[in-house]
Amino acid sequence: MKFKQLTIIFAIFSFSANLFAQSSGDFLGIKLRPEVQAIVKEIERKTGEEIYSEFIQQKDYMLGSSLISEDGIPVVLIDYSLEDDPKKLEAVIVHELLHLRLRVNNYPTFVFSPSVQTARGPAIKVEQSNVNDLKNIIEHRVFKGEMERFDLYRHVNLAGDAAKGAKKQKGKEGGQTEVINYVRAILEYHKASDIEELRKIYEANNWKNSIKTGEEIAALISQSNPQTLQAVETVFLKCILKLYPPPSPKYTFKLTLDPENKFWRRMIINTATQSVLRKNR
Ligand SMILES: [Zn+2]
Repeated sequence: MKFKQLTIIFAIFSFSANLFAQSSGDFLGIKLRPEVQAIVKEIERKTGEEIYSEFIQQKDYMLGSSLISEDGIPVVLIDYSLEDDPKKLEAVIVHELLHLRLRVNNYPTFVFSPSVQTARGPAIKVEQSNVNDLKNIIEHRVFKGEMERFDLYRHVNLAGDAAKGAKKQKGKEGGQTEVINYVRAILEYHKASDIEELRKIYEANNWKNSIKTGEEIAALISQSNPQTLQAVETVFLKCILKLYPPPSPKYTFKLTLDPENKFWRRMIINTATQSVLRKNR
């Protein structure tokens, strides 16, 4: 009996400690504005877990990343370089929280089925990072309005990174990664002159097809301006048909729900023939 009492007291105590942490709204040393604190609360309520956040070195040009772990814990990781740059830090934290909010509201991630092959090997090995990037670019479109309303959009400008990379690739063929970088430039660079700079480098590299496909995919995303999860799935499917054009109209891609993935909605990308799709409808 005594033990039971102790447990209850302990539970109340830790509950009030949590409340204190949330009301202070402190996130990696940044005091979050109330609208963003509400996003944190929504993510924590829907996952039933506190968000885990940490400064940790990010790869390539990434400033931050977010995910839901295999145990269902929402995670936000921010690059060390932002530790002393509060405005940019706030912008990247909010950006990652907006991705996580989509995750807890059933907006899907996409993964290639192990059976989908490319000339260079299984798509899940050689092409997965491109569809991850495509998914992110589509999600950025979903919450672009919010980033602008918070006046945080202008603090993150990725212009220049793709141009540096493309210059080094001169002489090589443009592939899907180059297309995705071009889509990102069109939709996310702040200045037309930065997009123009990248276009010139692509032209010098003879990557005319990457420019054309990039423009087509960017147009699909901005014209559909997806806001619902259904709209995200529809535009994603249209985009991968541009990014990986099937050899004939007989072939297409289909998305099916991954039943193994318990903590968020994940769609498996598979190839299909139009006739099989019609039969399954
Ligand atoms: Zn992002």
